[in-house]
Amino acid sequence: MRNRQFLQLLKSHFEGTPTWKHVLQQVRTSFHHIQVLLLALVITGAASHAAGQTAAGQTVIHKATEQFENSPLKTTSLGNGIFVLSGDGGDVTAIVDDGSTLLIDSGMDSRVGELSNAIFAATQRPVTRLVNTHWHFDHTGGNVFFGSSGAKIIAQENVKKQLSSVQNVPFVGLTDGHYPAQALPTQTYSSNMTLRQGSQQLILANYGRAHTDGDTVIYISPANVAVVGDIFSNPVYPIIDLGSGGSIDGMINSIDQVLTHTDEQTRIVPGHGPVASRADLQNYRDMLVQVRRRVELLITAGKTMNEAVAAAPTKDLDARWGGGYVTPDVFTKMVFSSLTQVSSASR
Ligand SMILES: [Zn+2]
Repeated sequence: MRNRQFLQLLKSHFEGTPTWKHVLQQVRTSFHHIQVLLLALVITGAASHAAGQTAAGQTVIHKATEQFENSPLKTTSLGNGIFVLSGDGGDVTAIVDDGSTLLIDSGMDSRVGELSNAIFAATQRPVTRLVNTHWHFDHTGGNVFFGSSGAKIIAQENVKKQLSSVQNVPFVGLTDGHYPAQALPTQTYSSNMTLRQGSQQLILANYGRAHTDGDTVIYISPANVAVVGDIFSNPVYPIIDLGSGGSIDGMINSIDQVLTHTDEQTRIVPGHGPVASRADLQNYRDMLVQVRRRVELLITAGKTMNEAVAAAPTKDLDARWGGGYVTPDVFTKMVFSSLTQVSSASR
């Protein structure tokens, strides 16, 4: 009887359209309640597979969201009318011309008022264009706000598809998408596009599958700034969104492209974390290559995903890269899954 009640309550948590917003709201309002539910499931052994995924997913998303909602919003000027705003989700870049601001990414929806005020304080100009580096909620949360205010939203063509329907991100527990019309891109491109904002030229480039299959890297010149989105999380293990066409090899390939198109003076704005140098990006690339090689050796040796995680292939790297919301275990699973292409089976 008790078990059935627990199962019914759990079922009610996941009925309807469980986008991340719904799930998070429930997590916030009844986190203890869910913990009790999960404990009960573990005790009864019922649906242990599903419970394990949910618990792991909630941990990653809960940790990330807690960080995005509670970190102070910081504005950094890069000169040439370019500002980076960080703390409320993915890094946001603002570029001014005489009368307008072009924004790259729009942070968390819960902090868009604060973000909008900080952008106006820095730029003194209205946002008329918004480029999304990819579809994830911590980069597109302000799309409804800016889209409703009349900003034109620009992205790689896959972002429009991803924001239009429900998406699942394996190993993270993120279910999102299905945004309202005013939050969707109205201008899309396939492999590259050029924009102008005042004295700056912006080259938008997509290098295929990487963090997702809709990533945009933006090269700003002559300011010599590259805004690279979540192909670079500085300095932490990244999410590889296998549900949206992400891949470890694609991520490394995209970074190699960025390394080719930048120089030692280029300021690189990552998807998360402080503005970096090309050398920082090179170190991050080397870490990805190292983890990829080690996981591939474990696969070749016939290890299962759980055995690969147990072998702790990132152990000596964790002190430097393991401090983010993507734990070493989750990162190992993503790399393993990407290399064995079993992402669909693990959702
Ligand atoms: Zn992302």
